[in-house]
Amino acid sequence: MINQEVKFCVKCVESNQRFLGSVTHEDKKDKFQRRTLFDENQVCSACLYYDYKKKINWDEREKELIEILDQYRSKDGYYDVLVPGSGGKDSRFVAHVLKEKYKMNPLTCTWAPHMYTDVGWRNYIQWVDSGYDNYFHKPDGKIHRLLTRLSFKNLLHPFQPFAQGQVYFPLRVALEKKIKLVIYGDSQAERGSGGNIHSYNNKFLNHSLYTYKNEEDLYYAGYSLKELEKFNIFKKDLIPYLPLKEKDFIGSNIQVLQLPYFINYNPQTNFYFAKEKTNFEVNPHGRSEGTYTKYASLDDKIDGLHHYTWFIKTGRGRATEDAALEIRNEIITREEGIALVKKYDGEFPKIFFKDILEYLDMDENEFNKTIDNFRPDHLWKKIGSKWELKHAVWK
Ligand SMILES: [Zn+2]
Repeated sequence: MINQEVKFCVKCVESNQRFLGSVTHEDKKDKFQRRTLFDENQVCSACLYYDYKKKINWDEREKELIEILDQYRSKDGYYDVLVPGSGGKDSRFVAHVLKEKYKMNPLTCTWAPHMYTDVGWRNYIQWVDSGYDNYFHKPDGKIHRLLTRLSFKNLLHPFQPFAQGQVYFPLRVALEKKIKLVIYGDSQAERGSGGNIHSYNNKFLNHSLYTYKNEEDLYYAGYSLKELEKFNIFKKDLIPYLPLKEKDFIGSNIQVLQLPYFINYNPQTNFYFAKEKTNFEVNPHGRSEGTYTKYASLDDKIDGLHHYTWFIKTGRGRATEDAALEIRNEIITREEGIALVKKYDGEFPKIFFKDILEYLDMDENEFNKTIDNFRPDHLWKKIGSKWELKHAVWK
């Protein structure tokens, strides 16, 4: 059950209502998703990780990384590591250090957004053109759109089909291309989405994230494979969205790492790296809607809606996510973070609203009704015609 007693981390601005993740079949119907963990002093697991991070010997960690890379380094000139990413700041950093600093031969792979923004597409092309082989997958648009509509209606989670592909597709590429090492640029521990308060001690990602045992455990848009058939979606339509069968994965000896376990960097340094070394373009609208930053999640016209739906379901949105991360990295103070959350969190994503309604095949009325259906009673109250949060970090 969801913990209905809303608490905010005393070190950052994160709420105990934050989802751990909102992607995998583990979350099944998405109704009772696991939430971020707090310790007895009301400190979130991500902040606990940052305390722990101060004690890490980074020279030792880099040595460990080099040992692993040497073990997987190609002897015949073939790819030796897979870097999933969009060409945003994190994947740019990972691909660059692996290729230039550690002399690996990476293949990058990209799962297409629902609807590319112009800046997202330019960043993607510019990244690949700057020197990386890339394997690009755009799923069947008709199926993807229908899954997105169903996920929005049934879970208020329009991002789920993208997120599922983003998690599962790279592992399929690794298996098909026989690449045994996959390295990601972001870290679950830094966002408090690891699932276990001590998951930051895990060098390799737990394979249960992207594998399954039984087909009955698979859910899309909150529906089982059998239930999806009434919408004319069949298993054959879902190939890129399927996790790997556990036995295929275990036999493959693929290892999945997160680079922040081995190298100490943060979103800000990545952004400066991307901007100065690689011509990465920031959001042309200035800051992104719902937050004050301009450098994260720029690729998809639906990004703003995704963060907005989190805000509706959990009472904390994109500004909370960004501020919490920047407070932990000592880029802003907690007071500044609280002010930014108050100012920007939950801002309605209007720039691409028309595109989104068209994509979801929905009018404004249906859209608004769906949104209001998902406001939990313990988070929202209606005053006149206006919805208000019952709890906020700034209240
Ligand atoms: Zn915290």
